[in-house]
Amino acid sequence: MSFSQLNNIILKLTDKTTVKVLNVLLEHKEIIDEEMVNILNEEIEQLQEDLNGDEEKIISRIALKEVRKSLYKLNERSLARYRRVRDKETGYFVYYWSPIFERILDLIVSRRKLSIKKLRQRLDYEQRNLLYVCAEGHTPVTFSDAFELGFICSTCGEELSQKDNENTIKFLKQKIKELDEELKTGLEELDDLAELMEKSIPKK
Ligand SMILES: [Zn+2]
Repeated sequence: MSFSQLNNIILKLTDKTTVKVLNVLLEHKEIIDEEMVNILNEEIEQLQEDLNGDEEKIISRIALKEVRKSLYKLNERSLARYRRVRDKETGYFVYYWSPIFERILDLIVSRRKLSIKKLRQRLDYEQRNLLYVCAEGHTPVTFSDAFELGFICSTCGEELSQKDNENTIKFLKQKIKELDEELKTGLEELDDLAELMEKSIPKK
């Protein structure tokens, strides 16, 4: 199962390694960091084989330190938690990591909704305010600002005329439509995640 939207969001917030780490967490529900390193390195080795030793594309193995760094990043954002258990034989603590599904679900929905809201506000602004701009395209201003400026550009002194914002409006409408559709696929990812979440709750 791949969560493209979630991966994009996490990538914006963190980095590629953290995206991989989160995906392993989602898949395994609970896992210790060392085991996670093994899984990620097995993937890398497989990839290496597929590349057939093309030296230009050699991908280095991932270190435990890197994985831990990613886990802390996820933990900081409340997307992953750990439980600490003392190993009876060695006396060292072992960290069992798991994803926090509820927070991950919230993150996907809230990010999408925020993007759509921002675009709607911009569209609303464009539709309500006709903008005035000079031929050089210096900072567009509203009618009242243009009036105060005597319809003269404050940068170059050329005349201000009404800007045709039909293209901007068309672009924004298209973008909103795309995001709405993305939100829907995001919701499908949510269903898949919720299903994983159900399965991760131990049955008594
Ligand atoms: Zn100008």
